[in-house]
Amino acid sequence: MVEFYRPQTLEEALQIRAEKHATPLAGGTDLLVRYRNWAGTLPKLSNSVVYVGHLPELGGIGVSGNGVGPEIRIGAAVTYSELLAHPSIPEILKRASWELSAPGLRNIATLVGNICNASPAADAVCALYVLDAEVEISGPKEPRRVPLHEFIQGPGKTVLKNNELVTAVYLPSSSLPITAYHKVGTRRANALSKLSFCGVAKLESGSVAGVAIAVGAVAPTVVRSREIEQRITGLRLDDIEASMADIMAGYDELIKPIDDQRSTAVYRKQTAHGLIERFLREEIRGAS
Ligand SMILES: Cc1cc2nc3c(=O)[nH]c(=O)nc-3n(C[C@H](O)[C@H](O)[C@H](O)COP(=O)(O)OP(=O)(O)OC[C@H]3O[C@@H](n4cnc5c(N)ncnc54)[C@H](O)[C@@H]3O)c2cc1C
Repeated sequence: MVEFYRPQTLEEALQIRAEKHATPLAGGTDLLVRYRNWAGTLPKLSNSVVYVGHLPELGGIGVSGNGVGPEIRIGAAVTYSELLAHPSIPEILKRASWELSAPGLRNIATLVGNICNASPAADAVCALYVLDAEVEISGPKEPRRVPLHEFIQGPGKTVLKNNELVTAVYLPSSSLPITAYHKVGTRRANALSKLSFCGVAKLESGSVAGVAIAVGAVAPTVVRSREIEQRITGLRLDDIEASMADIMAGYDELIKPIDDQRSTAVYRKQTAHGLIERFLREEIRGAS
């Protein structure tokens, strides 16, 4: 029989994870949809469930100094509405949260649910990639921090063990103030993305002093290449065009979309290329 647990503390939740291997439940907007049943009937869950959305240890957004600059800690039960209301959340994550679904869902769905679901089309994950986010995992041993791109291994796959929980997300201080976010979907609200694009950058004296680009839903995990970003960094704005073919050849190797019910591989590839080029040609320049 499927059991439902509502622990009072993180310690109790971890004990339930360790003993029962119960599936964590936060907002339920992915999990309960995945196991949906006929209208009016309970979800068809195959495993016991442990609710974590109310745990005080998983709530709240904290800002602290880490020696380099402010670091933001987002608790695993924090919803998109809470992110949007907080003054320290970086613009790119707010843009992605704002365009995610609709207000009712943003009031209950969590950022960490988006991460743990590990969908290549997860909009907030795309933003977290350009922010160099780290995931805090708690379990029987001391909590550990794992870079997001290592935490997510593939569609629906993470490094989380069945006796662990994600307890927070950390964002290091970001020094890239130029922000571009584009969600390509069928409708303005309540539509999963055909693809999503996040770009952040910084200019100094007409040259790119730093850049991070991520594209979601065009490969098994969000695409980000630090190697290509290094090639872009240092280029003068006027010289980007001359390097564009080389840059896009690099991204072409990584952008390997599929056809599915939301879009075609051809559309996703062309649109991803177009958005990267637009960011480098126009959006960075527009901010100078
Ligand atoms: C109508 C609708 C529209 C949507 N639109 C969008 C959209 O535009 N963009 C988008 O990216 N997504 C969208 N989604 C998907 C979903 O809302 C998001 O992925 C959301 O962030 C999931 O959060 P949640 O708290 O509901 O997660 P849940 O459904 O509670 O959990 C999701 C997964 O994370 C695991 N999990 C949750 N918390 C923890 C934890 N602390 N530790 C370990 N594992 C945990 C669960 O076991 C499950 O596997 C939409 C969903 C619906 C129903």
